[in-house]
Amino acid sequence: MPARTAAARERRRQAVKRRVLSPSDRCFRRCIVWTDSGPCGRPTEKFARVGLSNMMCTQHARHVAQFGSPLIKSPKASVLAPYLRASLALLKQWRDDPYVRAALAEITERLDNAGPADQTTRLSRLPPREKARQCFARLRIAGHHSERLAAIPLALAAYAKECPNEIGRGERWRFIAIGKAVYRLSRPGTHKVVEMKDQAGRTHRVQWNYQARATSRMLFYVGKALWKDADWLVEKHADEVIRAKNAGSQPLAG
Ligand SMILES: [Zn+2]
Repeated sequence: MPARTAAARERRRQAVKRRVLSPSDRCFRRCIVWTDSGPCGRPTEKFARVGLSNMMCTQHARHVAQFGSPLIKSPKASVLAPYLRASLALLKQWRDDPYVRAALAEITERLDNAGPADQTTRLSRLPPREKARQCFARLRIAGHHSERLAAIPLALAAYAKECPNEIGRGERWRFIAIGKAVYRLSRPGTHKVVEMKDQAGRTHRVQWNYQARATSRMLFYVGKALWKDADWLVEKHADEVIRAKNAGSQPLAG
């Protein structure tokens, strides 16, 4: 899928702007999010004509766009780490389990069919689904195997079961949280050293660092794909991950 042209991006921007400024009689006046200290109460984006959300204020609508929930962020790497260690250890033990085998086969196929990975600097112009595909291509090129990836949805499902108050409601939060954990492995970046000459003829070495930023829509597609590949595995084995984690599974590398 090609990157969007500058003209297409501008047309899209103008169309969104018109929708933001157009009057609407279907929006709430006040944000519907209920925080610890009561209702949020700020005007909704659409009512204030600053955005497209009919139900939430800018702050909560942005939080939903970023994390898939108005109040709850994705779990940090350190929070997921013990669940990931337990998941990986169990996946190694369960190689003959049919649910494990099926999930690993699906993920291997996804990695194999992800195609080539583009230059990192082109990534920001690509549509989110294409960025998600490239994320899997980079993981394959970096040599990540299907077990490492299958452990992520399994770990997240175990965390969600054990800490139901720490998770966002709905799939979107779950998919983005999985996408973030996957993206930590793929980290697209370019670190080139270029030699440049100044006017006096002296040579300078300049390091050019570029890190592609993840968008939440791309993370959503990455997480959704992995969740789909591992759905049976997660359904059958999330409880055992919690037990193994609490029994203190041996730390594993990776
Ligand atoms: Zn709000």
